[in-house]
Amino acid sequence: MSLVAFIGLGNMGGPMAKNLIKAGHEVTVFDLMPAACADLQQSGAAVAASAAEAVAGKEYVISMLPAGKHVAATYLGDDGLLARLDSSTTVLDCSTIDAETARTVGEAASAAGIGFMDSPVSGGVAAAAAGTLAFMCGGSAEAFARAKIILADMGKNIFHAGPAGAGQVAKGCNNMLLAIHMIGSCEALEMGARNGLDPAVLSEIMLASSGRNWSLEVYNPYPGVMENAPASNDYKPGFMVDLMAKDLGLALGIAEQSGVDNRMGKLAQSLYEQHQQKGNGQRDFSSILEQMQD
Ligand code: NAD
Repeated sequence: MSLVAFIGLGNMGGPMAKNLIKAGHEVTVFDLMPAACADLQQSGAAVAASAAEAVAGKEYVISMLPAGKHVAATYLGDDGLLARLDSSTTVLDCSTIDAETARTVGEAASAAGIGFMDSPVSGGVAAAAAGTLAFMCGGSAEAFARAKIILADMGKNIFHAGPAGAGQVAKGCNNMLLAIHMIGSCEALEMGARNGLDPAVLSEIMLASSGRNWSLEVYNPYPGVMENAPASNDYKPGFMVDLMAKDLGLALGIAEQSGVDNRMGKLAQSLYEQHQQKGNGQRDFSSILEQMQD
């Protein structure tokens, strides 16, 4: 059992914190939304009046916040949490943010002698609730050894990607590739359908051939092919277009900073932004198929 502070109890953080409680940890929570705190209280968490109050005396501080600016404001500066924590605490920021902010917070933590890992996740709300998230961690080997113990109660695959910021880079790489193979899968399925092929049969053919990929395997974007996929449920998310557009923006920032020629990633971003602007932000990202059907 560990003493854990959990900050940010939204769609992802709420179920993640509940899994820590189920695993027997003593969890103190804080969120700007009182309703989110009240929900966790019902599941057995203690509620703090502020992030600073939540982290006092804790072994682990975990955050799951919207963006880099929230993470920087939470941890950095004279009023930030890093100024209040002692060196026995391990900080795990599971938010998806820009790699630069993750590196900055990591360096500030290291200067204060505090273990920090950027630990963004792969897997959406369902994986957060089921405790089957994948964590991609950036930080020291020592911090990773401590992080693994607690992350194992919220996920099933835990990777050490490298130093601070490396978790965010790994997440950016993965999600850029996901966007590209989802779009490629949609184009192939639409081309087959317009030439008289049954998308289910074409999917089977490609799954047994060299076009096989995750989008076809577990998340088929064509309605009716895969019963449990968002495509067969009016593209109810799943993983929202808004979040894919956000993640592509972060991935393209990494590519730009490192001078990578990622034309496919840029094209994927522009297609997702067009789709978002047409009012599809809250739908599942596999609805990008409709861009090929206009
Ligand atoms: P969300 O908007 O549902 O939750 C964010 C929570 O943070 C909210 O409850 C908000 O009140 C709280 N918050 C904001 N600023 C705060 C502060 N300063 N102090 C305390 N609480 C604060 O978002 P989410 O869907 O849970 O996503 C969280 C992170 O996880 C994001 O970075 C997102 O990109 C990433 N992510 C989301 C998914 C998904 O499917 N939703 C999947 C993978 C990764």
